[in-house]
Amino acid sequence: MPVMNDDSSATALDAVAAACRVARTVQRGAAAQQITKDDRSPVTVADFAVQAIVAMALRDSMPQVHIVGEERAGVLRQPEHDAVRRAVVEAVRTVRPDAGDDDVLGAIDGCDHDATADSYWALDPIDGTKGFLRGGQYAIALARLEGGRVVLGIMGCPNLSADRQRPFDDPDPTGVIYVAREGGGCRQYAADSPGLDPTPVLNEHGLSAFNPGQIVRICESVESAHSRHTDSQRVASHLGLAVEYARLDSQCKYAVVARGQADAYLRMPTRKDYVEKIWDHAAGSLIATQAGAVVTDLTGSPLDFGRGRRLEANRGVVCAVGRVHPMIIRAIDELGIAVAV
Ligand code: AMP
Ligand code: MG
Repeated sequence: MPVMNDDSSATALDAVAAACRVARTVQRGAAAQQITKDDRSPVTVADFAVQAIVAMALRDSMPQVHIVGEERAGVLRQPEHDAVRRAVVEAVRTVRPDAGDDDVLGAIDGCDHDATADSYWALDPIDGTKGFLRGGQYAIALARLEGGRVVLGIMGCPNLSADRQRPFDDPDPTGVIYVAREGGGCRQYAADSPGLDPTPVLNEHGLSAFNPGQIVRICESVESAHSRHTDSQRVASHLGLAVEYARLDSQCKYAVVARGQADAYLRMPTRKDYVEKIWDHAAGSLIATQAGAVVTDLTGSPLDFGRGRRLEANRGVVCAVGRVHPMIIRAIDELGIAVAV
């Protein structure tokens, strides 16, 4: 397996940019077409189309590549989902006019690697599907893993504005793409002109001392089933600090910390048996750490991407700037949250 080079990261960035365009078009048109998966979560035309588009692009330039993707095409082969399958193929054809049904379904199913190879890509085609459906934030998250470490993270955020004053629930007409490399920092591109004039992304509060009396800005999931809101409130009141909350879907939350718009992203477990998936964190966590934030689980241990498709060694996520991260971990410990849930 070739080690990642500049060509493969350029291919990946172009693929994510194309996927952003397609997702945006689908969101405007056929967002209502969705299927409910076995775990009762929704999946849309965009989830399938984006997984096919990114997989085809990666395989064109790296035929032997391993891909760990969230979606499977089986459900699209069922006659009752004919309309969704046709819409998926039509969406893919806006980028690859020659693609047939079998090419598209095969590309989706080809993303079934078990995350055991030394190097592979992890893809969440539409992270935050509920945000996508409600016209809010969602992300196309692609990461390259080597030796159990995330070495490249690319995250397309079609509805996130470069303008930090724009509310998260007001979709941006352009969107942004973040690219981070291990040891190479983090950059922001306009989603409609990837590769041009990137802006370096740095959370300038990352290293500065905490100033008592300052407001701590915490972001978390919109969905209380994905992150226990009452636990983040307990942490905040235990800290005894003034807190401002922002709720948004998807791993755009990591980017919001990376760019200094929030001091922390908390993901507080809601169930004992839920184990986080690598594709929900690989790209986003590198984007945050390369911008100067710290990312761990609730106990302060680093996220361990070397355990297969899930973060088996971790529970929950605390992504925060250096000045508040240790305070949050201590509060979680003192409240007994990590062991209690
Ligand atoms: P968010 O947009 O931050 O709410 O996260 C969306 C992601 O939450 C989805 O991609 C799911 O993989 C993931 N998810 C589903 N169920 C749970 C759960 N019980 N706890 C944490 N995350 C979950
Ligand atoms: Mg996801």
